[in-house]
Amino acid sequence: MKAAPFEYVRAGSIGEACEVLQREGDAVKVVAGGQSLIPMMAMRLVRPGWLLDINEIAALKFVAMDKDAVRIGACTRQSTVERDQELAARVPLLRQALAWVGHIQTRNRGTIGGSIVHADPCAELPLVARVLGARMVLRSTAAARTVEADAFFSGPMMTATDANECLEEVQWPAWGERRTGSAFTEISNRHGDFAMVSAAAQLSLGDDGRCVRAAFGLGGMGQTPLAFPQLAQRLVGTRLEDEIVKSVAHDAAAQSDPGSDLFATAAYRRHLAGVLAARVISAAHAQAGSKG
Ligand SMILES: Cc1cc2nc3c(=O)[nH]c(=O)nc-3n(C[C@H](O)[C@H](O)[C@H](O)COP(=O)(O)OP(=O)(O)OC[C@H]3O[C@@H](n4cnc5c(N)ncnc54)[C@H](O)[C@@H]3O)c2cc1C
Repeated sequence: MKAAPFEYVRAGSIGEACEVLQREGDAVKVVAGGQSLIPMMAMRLVRPGWLLDINEIAALKFVAMDKDAVRIGACTRQSTVERDQELAARVPLLRQALAWVGHIQTRNRGTIGGSIVHADPCAELPLVARVLGARMVLRSTAAARTVEADAFFSGPMMTATDANECLEEVQWPAWGERRTGSAFTEISNRHGDFAMVSAAAQLSLGDDGRCVRAAFGLGGMGQTPLAFPQLAQRLVGTRLEDEIVKSVAHDAAAQSDPGSDLFATAAYRRHLAGVLAARVISAAHAQAGSKG
């Protein structure tokens, strides 16, 4: 199929983009890499009256290292982020997750902001955003506001972004602890497909080998990507023995409410979630431990 007829406008600045959004409201769809939006338009699942192209806005393409976070412009390509060595050192989970996002070709076009606003509950970057507590900066003609990840993702392909707002940047917390490790994994039918279930973890060890900070989460297990701060807190102070890791992973799976579809039943997803959560926590532990 082909997309329904639409008007096209290319914005040269964030201000110009916001003016179009303010004027046309719900009738507009921002197009960044187009890797999700264009197929959906071709299938007529989305029929915008206006397509607002933000690819020419240089101010939306940057990677900036702040003291406690890395800020990434919304229209920065996923492949740019994947190749950035300094970024990988400061927020390693991002590169680990990006390796699972589609294919090299889709990552060359797909943007960080596009994946975040698209908000597929199985997508990798929204899960990393939840686990790390990323912050989304949304701009309208009137002002900019910052929304925490746990308030940003409100449902399957639904976010706190208003019709008159453009995602400007995503701020990814960079942990300062020296002995920090992280891991991402997922199960899908074929490499490059959306995950049935995905899992991400990051944790830090103190000098005595005990966990001093932990975060983990699951994708594909509910309406939005899920983080488990209270369960992660149970890991803190332990030496991350198998027993506690398995117990926390099991409880995370039990607390989730996945659906069944053509690819997997809810019961199978829950089984995978327990296995994968334990796997990423252990892998993150091993990586942190290797930093002696
Ligand atoms: C073959 C294939 C495999 C894929 N596999 C995966 C996968 O495994 N995991 C995965 O996560 N994704 C996958 N995708 C989807 C895709 O790669 C990402 O979701 C995509 O890159 C989103 O980014 P984009 O820049 O292309 O967004 P677009 O398609 O341009 O936009 C996506 C949505 O975000 C909105 N939007 C984009 N930027 C902004 C902004 N700055 N402000 C406000 N709204 C905005 C758009 O209006 C639209 O609703 C796959 C795609 C293909 C074609």
